[in-house]
Amino acid sequence: MENQIIEELYREMGISGPVFRFGQQILRALEERFREIDGVAEYNQLKVVRAMQKNRVSAEHFSGSTGYGYNDSGRETLEKVYADTFHTEDALVRSQITCGTHALALALSANLRPGDELLSISGKPYDTLEEVIGIRPSRGSLAEYGIRYRQAELKEDGSFDFDAIKAALRPETKIAAIQRSKGYLTRPSLSVEQIGEAIRFVKDLRPDIIVMVDNCYGEFVDYTEPSDCGADMTVGSLIKNPGGGLAPMGGYIAGTRECVENCAVRLTSPGLGREVGASLNTLRSLYQGFFLAPTVTAGALKAAVFAANLYEQLGFKVVPGGAEKRNDIIQAVEFGFPEGVIRFCEGIQAAAPVDSYVTPEPWAMPGYDSDVIMAAGAFIQGSSIELSADGPIKPPYAVYFQGGLTWEHARYGILRSLQSLYEHGYVKL
Ligand SMILES: *Cc1c(COP(=O)(O)O)cnc(C)c1O
Repeated sequence: MENQIIEELYREMGISGPVFRFGQQILRALEERFREIDGVAEYNQLKVVRAMQKNRVSAEHFSGSTGYGYNDSGRETLEKVYADTFHTEDALVRSQITCGTHALALALSANLRPGDELLSISGKPYDTLEEVIGIRPSRGSLAEYGIRYRQAELKEDGSFDFDAIKAALRPETKIAAIQRSKGYLTRPSLSVEQIGEAIRFVKDLRPDIIVMVDNCYGEFVDYTEPSDCGADMTVGSLIKNPGGGLAPMGGYIAGTRECVENCAVRLTSPGLGREVGASLNTLRSLYQGFFLAPTVTAGALKAAVFAANLYEQLGFKVVPGGAEKRNDIIQAVEFGFPEGVIRFCEGIQAAAPVDSYVTPEPWAMPGYDSDVIMAAGAFIQGSSIELSADGPIKPPYAVYFQGGLTWEHARYGILRSLQSLYEHGYVKL
């Protein structure tokens, strides 16, 4: 009975019988996986609650400040909550950090000086960082300030290449950067365990090197974070996992007192540092979003696992594979032809609560070196903890899918993407 009325409503909302039933069949095999995901969420929920209790979060912390933002106890307490959750000495959590790229650019520029070298030990960094670093010449890049860059590639299987890392170290190497998530690549994302091993390796050789981890999309996916295994800075965006879908903007850097202090003076101004930065009316959503983040992330993980298994069953290459352990919430599906990416995104858009009536099209987005198509009908513009999909229109024509504020909505979105491919004859059921 229940199944019938649900199937009926799905049909009214554009999901045909064969697509619905195919989804049901995939889901039946995922019960155990979903239980594991719930276990991680439970643990992380406790971590967050404990940090909030320890710092005596109370209603007065939600009121926010204006102007200079001096004596903003809500902002200061939120930073302590982040630091305690990530088990770091300190954290900078600010609405003035505009996005993940900005948080990473801040962490780097605040802790590097002319003549220093930045070494990426996880191969090519996320596209937008190419301009931050100056890999692609860009106004204001680190390269313009005399900071050199090199990278140690990952091995064929996506794991760290310890020999290459050792060979790439120079006396000038000041920061070693690691990107946890694959971003727009089809390499596997790195586990916290692998990251910990790499950090130990670097620190054994050179204890003075600062290790920064780009933790975008990785927060609360596992029991531990990179900050639990030696990262000096763990960096991410609040319109991804840790914002829980409620944070309207912002970024965070959790790490050692020294590194975070450098970031604070760089973000505002030498001499002012963390003492300024009005929080306006944002604090309640940053707290509440952080509180919800473990379960929101769990929903997004279930969506990623569901999508992986569904498209793998249909014969497409998916990264990670349906049965693989998750290290972030991104799911890549390689279609091998542009129409696959476009139809998939069309389906995700059509399932959105906001802007469901628009049709996404590829465009030349700033910061990227090819046309990109993006599907998102989000409450917060560009928020990718909300159900979203994007892909550069270049080989191997992979779509990167992530988010979902609720698992139920994400499930509808994935079925809708399949419906779109099915209707255009790209898959047979
Ligand atoms: C999203 C992302 C970034 C950049 O974040 P924006 O908020 O889009 O600027 C950097 N690195 C990784 C791995 C990401 O996923």
